[in-house]
Amino acid sequence: MTSRRNFLAGSAAAAAAAFAGNANAVPVMKPAKFDETFDFVVVGAGGAGLCAAAHAAENGVKTAVFEKMGIAGGSSALCGGAWSVGGSDMQKSKGIEDSDEKFFADMMKTGQNMNDPELVKTFINYSKKEYQWITKQGVKPSTVSIASGMSVPRAHRFNPQKVVEFYLDYAEKKGANVRFNAKVERLLWDGQKERICGVKVTVDGKVKNIQARFGVLLANGGFSRNPVLLGKYAPPMRYAAVIAGAGTAGDGMLMAQAYGADVLDTNYVKASYGFKLNPTTIRHMTTIYYAGAIIVNKAAKRFVNESLSYKLLGDEALSQPEHASFLVFDNAIRKKQMADRPIDQELWGCIDQGKQPEFAYIGNTIEEAAQKAGLDPKTLAATVAEYNKLAPAGKDPLGRTSMSSGYGKPVALTEPPFVVMPATAAMIGTYCGVKIDSKLHVIDVFGEKIKGLYAAGEVVGGVHGAAYMTGTAFGKAIAFGRLASEVVAQERGK
Ligand SMILES: Cc1cc2nc3c(=O)[nH]c(=O)nc-3n(C[C@H](O)[C@H](O)[C@H](O)COP(=O)(O)OP(=O)(O)OC[C@H]3O[C@@H](n4cnc5c(N)ncnc54)[C@H](O)[C@@H]3O)c2cc1C
Repeated sequence: MTSRRNFLAGSAAAAAAAFAGNANAVPVMKPAKFDETFDFVVVGAGGAGLCAAAHAAENGVKTAVFEKMGIAGGSSALCGGAWSVGGSDMQKSKGIEDSDEKFFADMMKTGQNMNDPELVKTFINYSKKEYQWITKQGVKPSTVSIASGMSVPRAHRFNPQKVVEFYLDYAEKKGANVRFNAKVERLLWDGQKERICGVKVTVDGKVKNIQARFGVLLANGGFSRNPVLLGKYAPPMRYAAVIAGAGTAGDGMLMAQAYGADVLDTNYVKASYGFKLNPTTIRHMTTIYYAGAIIVNKAAKRFVNESLSYKLLGDEALSQPEHASFLVFDNAIRKKQMADRPIDQELWGCIDQGKQPEFAYIGNTIEEAAQKAGLDPKTLAATVAEYNKLAPAGKDPLGRTSMSSGYGKPVALTEPPFVVMPATAAMIGTYCGVKIDSKLHVIDVFGEKIKGLYAAGEVVGGVHGAAYMTGTAFGKAIAFGRLASEVVAQERGK
């Protein structure tokens, strides 16, 4: 019987043409001879890939990692380092009562039950397992804090670079072969065995065929830096800034789709609002709207209830004319924000030394700040006057009755100096991707496993559902990396 994926078996010429054309979504057949053979091939040296490689190599699995950039880390090395775990030693030491069950309930609620409960349970289980292991190796969080989507503090704050360095070092010490400037271009198909059997990699301009005897792991991250995919799945996000890892172009998702992989959660891709223009790091983001700032468009008019989630604010802001929006606030709001969120001191502290941040405009009146920012002064003054009259009295026409998600009351903007900051939304991750089962097999659009192909980390869909809880993306990369190493070791033992 001929399977759906066997349709090009034996047609090496057609396969070669497909790869040379670099645009055809058809299986690329295995070559007559491979250049190199490994048990396990990992695509990408971020958190997921390096954790998988570290444990696989530790289990005696002959492992190679191919990383297209010149350095390891991807988004994992740039991230805030929040890793969610339920019921850790650190939580207990601080009297925080948490459990896997509470964590599960929070994740399903945050994801609006659009996430896969089995995957969520698997993530929670492996997140704790790996947390316990890595903390025993001496890599520990500095603290645990509350963040979005949590009913108790469970965001364990790690130094993400240290975590990545640790796994890279451990993987190499245990014998994994980690190659840089090595871009995986395509997955290779064994027509007889009907499975993925390796990868085609470009290293220093040369194409190599690499065999993976027991599995290929996609650990290539998301697609924040692929405007075509953003345009397809989340059109307004094409206009968002991007601060995700330089290699996050969706290569793995596309390569898997060429073999029929299904994708999940792609309709929930969102950028985060509150960045200065052309941001390069998470430190360029403020959440000053939750301290009372308002948001206006180029016409100097409000368009959104500023107390909504910063992901929803991003959607609204990017839909405005020229995708432009501005944060407007007074001195009292600035001081409150710096006290509530110390990282904002880096953005606004200079005003106290009589300086002006280069990314915002200051005025002793709303009109003066508006003029400098290129907004119509009269309109902005009228917008602020109306807001001052209605919002604190609970009569805001845009429905703002709180500072943030029901917490705190809106305040009038009255204390000079006033600030106008051109702001934007930025992509830090896509949090959606290929469908997998709880053993990380990639699943096709007909619900069947694509044999030999696994996925871990941000390339995976189904864990977050409609929205993301802080600490479950970095955490997911590492948790699923650990699981991948176990799955491939089992596969090898068969
Ligand atoms: C600024 C920022 C802050 C964040 N803060 C948090 C946080 O605090 N907590 C949290 O949970 N999440 C956070 N996230 C999200 C989280 O960091 C990521 O979702 C997660 O780390 C992704 O891990 P990964 O291993 O799947 O992918 P990555 O870490 O992105 O690694 C993927 C690697 O694959 C490589 N690659 C891609 N394509 C190929 C190819 N074709 N061939 C070879 N190599 C390839 C890439 O170059 C990259 O090195 C944040 C993200 C950013 C950008």
